[in-house]
Formats: sequence, structure tokens, C-alpha cells
Amino acid sequence: MMTNTRVKAASRSELQDLYYHGDTKEIAEKARAVTEAVHGKQVLLRGLVEFSNHCSMNCLYCGIRSANKKVRRYRLYMESIFSIIKTGFKAGLRTFVLQSGEDNWFTQEYLCGVVRGIKKITNNEAAVTLSCGIKSRKEYQQLFEAGADRYLLRFETADPRLHKYIRNGSTLEERLRALENLRAAGFQLGSGFMVGLPGEEAETGLENILLAQKLNLDMAGIGPFIPHQNTPLAGSGQSPIEKTVRMTALLRLALPYAHLPATTAAGSVHPEGREMMIQGGANVLMPNITPPEAKSSYLLYPGKICLDESGVQCIGCLSTRMKPLDRKLDFSIGHSLHTA
Ligand code: SAH
Ligand code: SF4
Repeated sequence: MMTNTRVKAASRSELQDLYYHGDTKEIAEKARAVTEAVHGKQVLLRGLVEFSNHCSMNCLYCGIRSANKKVRRYRLYMESIFSIIKTGFKAGLRTFVLQSGEDNWFTQEYLCGVVRGIKKITNNEAAVTLSCGIKSRKEYQQLFEAGADRYLLRFETADPRLHKYIRNGSTLEERLRALENLRAAGFQLGSGFMVGLPGEEAETGLENILLAQKLNLDMAGIGPFIPHQNTPLAGSGQSPIEKTVRMTALLRLALPYAHLPATTAAGSVHPEGREMMIQGGANVLMPNITPPEAKSSYLLYPGKICLDESGVQCIGCLSTRMKPLDRKLDFSIGHSLHTA
């Protein structure tokens, strides 16, 4: 992977100035130049497997929260996860992201077995990323020792009051402690936030960017908050895609070396949302390789795209979408540039 050590992150005061006074088009152009200097014209791929929509948590924003009784709950067990991974590996993917609700059915022993199995069937040539919520320090350590490489845990919002409200009593402090534990265990660390949460203050977006920078993230994922009809935030407004693009660009300037996905949520609020994020500094795409029948029950938000496509079809579609942007899909493992 091409790297350029001369690219410097924007300072706190530069970010503040751009956040309040910058022109979105100019910020995005700057961010695109930084992205090309550090990451080239490649867009890394990560295959997403949504392996369980059971969740013991009750986050106010989320469609699969425990109080939503309208969800058809499912789990993908070890053998089906392995078969999905085998297909993805054959299609060329070299990173697999396993995401779920906080589902206690999956014991430590079972999850560690899943991780070890994936490493084995991919001859240790693929990275395993987990995104299964808050666990103890010891549990994170065991998952790392089983072979998991990376972990995604968004802080969701840097505003402690709002965080506690939207996460139904779970605190920002708790989330940040979990991120520290993940780092201490040895994971490449991913976090991020939602754009346009109801109850945000004018400065919240800037605080989100500054917190992401302070955490020195290897991966930073953001996307628009999308109100879900069966949640307490059902009546909230939808922020325009431009706001997410502006935040993507600022995030890129704050973290030139981080891997930044153009997220499905962006593609769900605007037909070209992911392209707009790529143009504003994102360098990762996440084809969803969850089988269609499960995928359509993993609705964190409404309007999720590509519900009836297979993972392999997703890759073809993404490749077509990148061509007009002069970007190429990159099938390499794409480890953190901090640890590479
Ligand atoms: N249970 C894990 C992983 C699944 S949720 C966790 O909570 O970390 C993955 C991400 O989906 C969350 O971090 C959140 O940022 C995003 N998400 C959930 N509901 C959403 C909504 N209504 N709109 C946009 N993003 C949402
Ligand atoms: Fe569960 Fe994650 Fe949804 Fe919260 S955001 S309810 S932890 S799946």
C-alpha cells in the first residue's frame, strides 16, 4: 500500500475553523487530495456478515433494540458463517467484519471458535474484524488471542448527556473504557459516530471529530442517523447527506491515515451517498455478504439498500459504481497504516 509520511493531520484550531466557516466543496476537495496522497486511488473492501440481530440492549435509535417486538430474530451459526466466509474468500475478500447485537447466546468459547475457524479456512490470509458491542477487558483479550485483528465500536456521540439518553442509560465513559480495553488487548481500533442525531448541539459535530482524532483511530466509521419507525426516535428529522459528506471530509483531515468506510447508511439516504463519501475522503467499501433472508431482518434503520442481492453481486455493483470516480476496488487485506 502506498503511504506518504509527509501528510499531516489538521490541528484542533484548523478543524474548528473549517467546521464553523469552511465551504463544504473546498473541505471535500482538500480531503480528497489527502486521501489520494496517503491511500492512492484504491478503495479497500471489507465483507460484512450480520450474524445475529438478537440484542439485550435498547438503544433508542436502533431498529433491532430489545423492545422492538416486530423484529424477526435470527442467528447464523458457526457452519453457516464459515460457508459465507468461504464464498467471500473465493470472491477475493480478505477482511471479514462480523457484526451483531449484544447477543449473550454467543458465549466467549463459541465466538473464539468462530474466529479461530475463520482464520483456519482462510489460511491466515484474511483479517477478522468484530463488532459485537461492549464486553469485558478479559473477553476482548480472549477474542484477540483467538486471532481477531480488529474491532469496531462507535462512540456514537461525544456528548455525554446525549450519549446516556440515546443509549438508554449506558454512558459515554463506559464506551470509552471499552475502547481503551480494546486498544490494550492489541486490536486495530475502529470507532465513530452518527451524524445528525436529534438533540445534538451546534458544537457536537466538532466534538465528534476531535474525539475521533484524540482516540487515534485506525478505522473511523460514520453515517447519517436514520430514524426508524419502531423506535422512540421515530419522529425525528433526517439530516441531509451533505452533512455526512462534510463530516467525512473533516474526519479525513483529522485522521489522514485512518481507514474510513463509505457506509451503507449513506447509500440508504441518497442513491449516490457512498460515492459522495468516497469523493469526500472515504477509502473503504463494505459489501454485505450476509444471506438475503437474514440481511432483510437486520434493519438498524429503514431503507437499507441491496437487501435482495448476494455478496458477490454487491462486489460487482460496487466496482461499477467506482469506475466513474476513477477509483479501483482493492482486494488486499488492508491492515491499519499505523501498524503496517
Ligand atoms: N451492537 C453493536 C453493533 C451493531 S450496531 C453496537 O452497537 O456497537 C452498529 C452501528 O449501527 C451502531 O454503532 C450505530 O452507529 C449504527 N446505527 C444503529 N441504528 C442506526 C440508525 N437508526 N441510523 C443510523 N445508524 C444506526
Ligand atoms: Fe443493540 Fe447495537 Fe442496536 Fe444498541 S446499536 S440496540 S447495542 S444492536
